[in-house]
Formats: sequence, C-alpha cells, structure tokens
Amino acid sequence: MPDNKDLEAMIGIVGKKYASNNKAITASYLAKSVMGLESQIPDIVVRPKYMEEIRKILVYCSSEKVAVSPISAGLSGGFSCPTIKPAGILIDLSRMNRIIEVDEENRYVVVEPGVTNGQIWAFMLKHHPDWAPPIPDGAPPAATVMGDAIDRGFSLYTSSVGPQGDNFMCAEIVFPNGDILRTGSWALPFAKPFYKYGLGPDIWSTIMGSQGTMGVITKIAVKIYPHPKFKTLVNWGMGNPYDMQDVTFDLGKLEFGVAHNTVMVQGGNYGIVMCRWPKDKIPHDLEFFKNKGYSEWWMNWEIWAQSQKELDHCVDTINTYCSNYRKSTRCRDPDQMIPQELHPKQIASRLKKPNKIAVPYSLWEAGFLFITWYTPWNECAHFAEMYNSVLENHGFAPVMWIASIERCRQALCMPIICFDSTKDEDIERVQEVNRETTEYSLKQGWLNYRPDPYIHAPLMYSQAAMYWKYLRKIKKMFDPNMIMHPGRLALP
Ligand SMILES: Cc1cc2nc3c(=O)[nH]c(=O)nc-3n(C[C@H](O)[C@H](O)[C@H](O)COP(=O)(O)OP(=O)(O)OC[C@H]3O[C@@H](n4cnc5c(N)ncnc54)[C@H](O)[C@@H]3O)c2cc1C
Repeated sequence: MPDNKDLEAMIGIVGKKYASNNKAITASYLAKSVMGLESQIPDIVVRPKYMEEIRKILVYCSSEKVAVSPISAGLSGGFSCPTIKPAGILIDLSRMNRIIEVDEENRYVVVEPGVTNGQIWAFMLKHHPDWAPPIPDGAPPAATVMGDAIDRGFSLYTSSVGPQGDNFMCAEIVFPNGDILRTGSWALPFAKPFYKYGLGPDIWSTIMGSQGTMGVITKIAVKIYPHPKFKTLVNWGMGNPYDMQDVTFDLGKLEFGVAHNTVMVQGGNYGIVMCRWPKDKIPHDLEFFKNKGYSEWWMNWEIWAQSQKELDHCVDTINTYCSNYRKSTRCRDPDQMIPQELHPKQIASRLKKPNKIAVPYSLWEAGFLFITWYTPWNECAHFAEMYNSVLENHGFAPVMWIASIERCRQALCMPIICFDSTKDEDIERVQEVNRETTEYSLKQGWLNYRPDPYIHAPLMYSQAAMYWKYLRKIKKMFDPNMIMHPGRLALP
C-alpha cells in the first residue's frame, strides 16, 4: 500500500496541487467509477499533464512495486474501470486534454487521453463542421474518445463503420519501464498516422482492450468521417426479439446502398422506456405500453445520407423490407410488426450528439449496470430471450438493448440491470444473474465485452488457457513488476 514517501514522490513529479491522498478526493473517484460493484477507493490520486510526468510516475511505481490504475474519465461503466485491490495510485489523465491535430485530407484527429466527447464534438462543430469525430453514441459527454477507443466501444456510426477499435489509427504508449512506443505508421518518426498496421506484426492490437493493464496511452489518432446534412430515423415495432433480429439482418446483409448509410441500428424492448423513469411514477406492465402504441420490441435505424434522394431511398428500402417481412411466413407476430411514427422532437433528440440517452436509467432505482456481450447478429434474439428470463427470475425488470456493429456482423447485446445499490441483497442478486448468464453465454461461444475481474475473466480464461498463457507473457513483457491495474482481466 502506498505511504507518505510515495505521496512525496508523486508531489515531486506533478506538484503539490496534483497529487493527493486526501480521503475526500480519493473517495470521489469511487463515485466516478460508475456501475462497478466491487471498486475500491484509491490510496493516492495523481493528475499528470505531460507524458514525461507519466513516464516518471510509472518508473517510480515499477521500482517501488506500487499498483497503478490509469483512467481517462473513469466513466467506462459495466466493470471496466473500477480500481480493485490493491487500490494503489490512480492516474487521472483528465488534465491531458489537448486536441493536437485535425487532418481533413487524411481524415484523422490526434487527441490526448483527457479529451472528452463533449469537447471534441463542440470543437469539430465550430472548426470542422463537415466532419464527425467518433464519439460513443450514448456515453456521457464527460467520457473520453480515448477511453472508448481503447475499450473498443461503439461509436455514433458503428453500424456503418464497425467497432470503435477499428477507428483507431496510431498510439503513443508509455510502459512501466519508461519506454515510449509509437504504433502503426507512427513507429517511423516522420510518418503521419495514416496506417494502423505499421511495421510488420501489429503490437497495438495486444494493448487494445487491455483495460489499463499494460501501459498508459498518452496520444491517439482516430479516424473522422464526413458529417452529411441529410439525416433521419426509421422505427419499427416488433412482437418478439426474433422478428427484430431477422428483418434487421436482411437489411444489414445488403451491405452496400443501404446498410452503409444506417449509421446506428439499435433496438430493444419496452423495458428501456419504462426504466428511464422513477420506478414508482410509471406503470410497469406491457399492456400500458401497447395501449400507447408501443410494440414489445422495436428497431431504430438512424440514416445519414449525402442527398435527399439517397435518404429517401434508404427510408423506402427499410420500410419495404419490414412490410414484406411482416407479410412473410417468417414473421412470428405480424400484429405487432408495425411502423412507429416518431414525433419530430423524438427524432431531433435522437439525432442530437453527444446525447444523454443512457443516463436516465439511474432514475429507476439509483444503481444501473450494463453487462455487455458480443454475439453473432443472428444469435442476438436467443441471447435476449435467455437474459431477460434470468433477469425476471431474479426479480429484475427485463431490459435489453441491442445494437448492430458493422452492418450486423456482430450484435452488441446490452442488458441494463437497474437495482438499488444501497442494498446488499440487490448486489448479490446482480452477481447471481451475472454468474448464471456468463456460464450459459460462454457455452454458446458468446464474448463478454469489458470483462470484469471476478466473474467474466476467470470463467472466460479458464476455457481459453492457452490464450491466457500468452496474454500473461505479453503483460510480463510490458509490465514485468505487474504494477498496472493488477488483478484486472485475471492478470495478477
Ligand atoms: C450512461 C453511459 C452510457 C454509455 N454509452 C456508451 C456508448 O454509447 N458507447 C460506448 O462505447 N460506451 C458507452 N459507455 C461506456 C463508456 O462511457 C465509454 O466506453 C467511455 O468512452 C469510456 O471513456 P472513459 O474516458 O470514461 O474511460 P475510462 O473509464 O477512463 O477507461 C476505460 C478503460 O481503459 C483504461 N484506460 C483509460 N485511459 C487509459 C489510458 N490513457 N491508457 C491506458 N489505459 C487507459 C482504464 O483503466 C479502463 O479500464 C457508456 C457509459 C455510461 C456510464
């Protein structure tokens, strides 16, 4: 556990103002790590501004064998960020918030870790209005581009261009021994960040998804995409997850002409609406929502196009596919397969970025947790049916959100578990749901995204021993004293 000597060393590196073991400050980071059930209060918080400071912090902690956890904003959610025992030193990178370069020709932006979604969005709107940076669609504006990219999240155009990890071009990483590695084309001193698979075998991919266990990333280049003016939403209701899955798959598999224009394709069940309100203020039963015109399930296509003609073509194609599907023998529930008219205000609010669409889940019962899984698209209905029944068996509202990644090549399935975080028995129930669904899902070959160190990682790696063996070797190579986020990903 770090002591006063370690605090003095941190003060020596970043200055008195930016290193502290004051309980009020360290405890505030526990609240920041939203949705982690077992997160710990760090012993010391340090807030560097420069890469050289990070290098000194890591070299010191490595030689003194002090645990280190880096965060960009600490809002990753669903277990990814929380500091775990030994809590050690938390490196808060929010002061490193420079937008270093925007290159419209080569279509990338270079940012430091502390650049938030709100900051980059406002900056681009003002200085580069024809370009959209890859911010996550529903994450808080205070979360960062870096946190989402290295976590391989999903962006506002993820159904068109793939997972956030694919938007990544090059990185600058500081390792615990003080080495600084630049990946991709950046490995050459004069190269632009135009090619991610740099010099022979790609090292960056081993660090992507490492949840702060390998080194601290101090700079990244991510792709930007044109931001066309013609946009709208199409929404269809469905009676069950299979109709939702199948018609969406038909459209996704078209790939060209339509699927590339549907930037965000996301659906779910009526519980999503219900759980964005305080629990005692809204009826919970499906009939109430049916009477309001909601189907039990729905799918929402957000379309970006270069012209009105292109936009109309996409809208028509989606409507034609859904209408034809409704009439076909494949449709299990034609009565609930209906187009859902959206009020212009609903469309405007959905198109607004960064949006705060996911934040109201905390209204239901204060605590909420996203436990996200990847499945092949044509297995997402099976996942949803299984998970919702486990949620209900444990007394939770069945709330499921599903998004297409890369034109339905993968489904990102996100059960939203709303619970009372002040009650121990609720936390135990969440853990029971997590264990039961993890055991089931791994047998189906589904992957947990942002694995937690207590249930997902041990269960997952116990079935992939050879992969884990090499992961440990890689970790030891970058971090021989195992100081970085120790215990995360079951990598002690
Ligand atoms: C309400 C809500 C909605 C959300 N919606 C979305 C969404 O629509 N799409 C989506 O993809 N995600 C979503 N998320 C998840 C999350 O907000 C994003 O992934 C977010 O961008 C994480 O950024 P962060 O800066 O908070 O990351 P952090 O929590 O700071 O970090 C994420 C992980 O990376 C590590 N890390 C962070 N910075 C560094 C660094 N510089 N070097 C090395 N390791 C580092 C951390 O240790 C941690 O394990 C949502 C979260 C919430 C709470």
